Amino acid sequence: MENYKILRTIGIGSSGCVRLAECKQPPNKKNEIQLVCVKEVSLGNMSKEERRSAVREAKVLKHLPPHPNIVGYRSALIENGSLYIVLEYAESGDLDAYLARRNGALVPEAQIWKWTLHLLLGIHHLHTHKILHRDIKTKNIFLTRTNTLQLGDFGIARSLATTLDSAHTAIGTPFYLSPEICEGRAYSWKSDVWSLGCVIYELATLHHAFYAANLSDLIQTIIRGRYPSISSTYTRELRGMIGSMLQTRAELRPSVEELMGVGGVKRAFGEML
Ligand code: ADP
Ligand code: MG
Repeated sequence: MENYKILRTIGIGSSGCVRLAECKQPPNKKNEIQLVCVKEVSLGNMSKEERRSAVREAKVLKHLPPHPNIVGYRSALIENGSLYIVLEYAESGDLDAYLARRNGALVPEAQIWKWTLHLLLGIHHLHTHKILHRDIKTKNIFLTRTNTLQLGDFGIARSLATTLDSAHTAIGTPFYLSPEICEGRAYSWKSDVWSLGCVIYELATLHHAFYAANLSDLIQTIIRGRYPSISSTYTRELRGMIGSMLQTRAELRPSVEELMGVGGVKRAFGEML
């Protein structure tokens, strides 16, 4: 890690500590200070299997072609029993913190469509490369200086959040678990669509779609698939799209490609070009 100067800790996640750092040798010609995010995953406390999967997932990250809606990957290395993953720094933090800062002020619909497009493009990129995110939630979505959303924290969390068993051990409550996972069935592409539906619901209400004070009540709530309705200040189109993603039967949920065809998403795409 001698190429990086650690500045401060910016977050503690389920798998380790995340720090802001400065590259000592800026690779760009302008000689600007380059800020990065260093994620430390301590391999010592892990089982052999967990360790193998952490390293494997760092490799997945490394081989995934860069995409504007995926947190940029710089490098990964193992040093002193820890895996360090160096990522581009998302200056405006995560979406969970952003929504908390709004203090109850609803997000304008045009903004929700733009961000939905960003998330769909990011997930599409992952799915095209045969990667399931498996842990889409507002805490794992990052906001850049240019108001672009990027998906982050995938791969590492991949093996941790797939089963209900591991959900028990993860930090925090798994509000974004899909009904099929709650029922012990396999994770699929449509499970990522469910979690994305939970995120867009949260953009439109500032609340979790499925909430309970303890895990067993939460699982019951998710399996029932009922959530408080979304304010009618939002169009029927937006509310309908969210509803379609939050159908308990996975096969009824739209695919990422189908969601790209929703009017509001197409309009946001047209504005981006
Ligand atoms: P974990 O697997 O530990 O949950 P995350 O990648 O989600 O790891 O990081 C935990 C926290 O660290 C995030 O919620 C966020 O606050 C911060 N963080 C992580 N990556 C970045 C990044 N690239 N830019 C800015 N903040 C980040
Ligand atoms: Mg995380």
